[in-house]
Amino acid sequence: MTAYLGDVVNAVYVVAVIAFILGLKAMSSPETARRGIVYAGAAMLVAVAVTFVSPGLSNFALIALGVIIGGGVGWYWARVVQMTAMPQMVAVFNGMGGGSAAAIAAVELLSTLSNPTTSSLSLAGAIIGSISIAGSVVAFLKLQGWMRQKAIAYPGRQPISVTVLAVGVALGVYAVAGLNAIWLLPFFVLLLLYGVLLTLPIGGADMPVVISLFNALTGIAVALDGFALVNGPLGDAGYAMVIAGTLVGAAGSLLTILMSRAMNRSIRNVIFGAFGATEEVGGAVQGSMKPIDVDDAAVLMAYANEVIIAPGYGMAVAQAQQKVKELSDVLEAKGVAVKFAIHPVAGRMPGHMNVLLAEAGIDYSKLFDRDEIDPEFANADVVLVIGANDVVNPAARRQGSPLFGMPILDVDRAKNVIVIKRGQGKGFAGIENDLFYKDNCRMLYGDAQQVVGKLVTALKKS
Ligand code: NDP
Repeated sequence: MTAYLGDVVNAVYVVAVIAFILGLKAMSSPETARRGIVYAGAAMLVAVAVTFVSPGLSNFALIALGVIIGGGVGWYWARVVQMTAMPQMVAVFNGMGGGSAAAIAAVELLSTLSNPTTSSLSLAGAIIGSISIAGSVVAFLKLQGWMRQKAIAYPGRQPISVTVLAVGVALGVYAVAGLNAIWLLPFFVLLLLYGVLLTLPIGGADMPVVISLFNALTGIAVALDGFALVNGPLGDAGYAMVIAGTLVGAAGSLLTILMSRAMNRSIRNVIFGAFGATEEVGGAVQGSMKPIDVDDAAVLMAYANEVIIAPGYGMAVAQAQQKVKELSDVLEAKGVAVKFAIHPVAGRMPGHMNVLLAEAGIDYSKLFDRDEIDPEFANADVVLVIGANDVVNPAARRQGSPLFGMPILDVDRAKNVIVIKRGQGKGFAGIENDLFYKDNCRMLYGDAQQVVGKLVTALKKS
């Protein structure tokens, strides 16, 4: 009977895994992403539920309590979170995964210290999971604005971090080799400290890469724990963790590579925390910001052949996407071609702009990524920048700038640039934007939703 039950549980895991893969595939396009989330969520629900009937499982009440508390907090938070606070929520949820992996590894280490295979796998899971939770908590605090968002650099940063990591790992290895669990305590403390030290020097525009990196690490830690569990009484659940963890690890690693390419950072640079610590050097901006009013901006756009819209974080804050859709419709009705230039890290999470614009019903075929749209900027009559700052900052081309090397949308090459923003606020990286001072750039001040609404009204009248 027990063997039969084990087969049923395994069969359900296989179905769940297929649904995970289909879900991931669907998430790769904004049109099918919602469906992908439903597949993956349902698969996770089924996988968790079927684990309750796994042979060898005990402590049901305690597990149910954990599921209720964790599920309840997650459900509530995900319902009330503002779209703009999504990255910190993702960071914290990632971190919880890493923390759970570290906790499972701790239990495994304590109970199977004498088994070299299991304890080495658990040790690896513990290392990665601990770094992931500590780093994710720091990322959360930075994104939430509860600690300094800029890079926190201090002398000897690199050697200190490497020493903490090396001593921590050595203590873990010593605990396992010497079968002495007492050393696991300083091991965990040092690994958590390393996660903090790794993330402190990362600031400004580099945060997306690190969030994605911790996501990948969490998946890898879960997979390692799964391998360790496979040998124990809950072997079947171990297989599910190996597969789910590997999927998260692989997807997260690919995303990290894509994001770091978008930021022009090497993965090595990311892993050793050597980025984001530079301060602005030289290159003071010249000129002054020149305002434009709504009516003049509307006329400029009405007589354009092509308008390229470059949205950013401010569009998300203002929830202006619906008005942006109306603007695009009214311009097209006047015979103006409208395209959207989407920078991979515009906003505060990967795909932020795509999701918002898709939600407003803007056709996906009008959205172009940086490489596709870049050659068109020089021919565009008007580029309308809506609440974007870092991703259109030409300072990224200047050596000495903290943004140096980040590929940007070259909107400054257009004949006319109109920037909608509320005032003199800086972007996420906290540096001045050279674009705003250029001769071809005009500032249209105000909240993005209100200003775009006024543009629509003015264009309808003209
Ligand atoms: P930025 O954060 O650089 O700039 C946003 C601009 O929007 C500000 O200058 C602000 O100026 C303006 N703004 C804010 N609120 C409003 C409003 N209601 N109406 C109009 N304008 C508004 O945005 P970008 O999208 O250009 O760049 C994203 C940055 O975030 C990058 O540095 C990126 O690395 C980072 N990041 C991205 C993540 C991702 O995964 N995409 C994750 C974490 C960080 P003002 O105050 O004057 O209005």
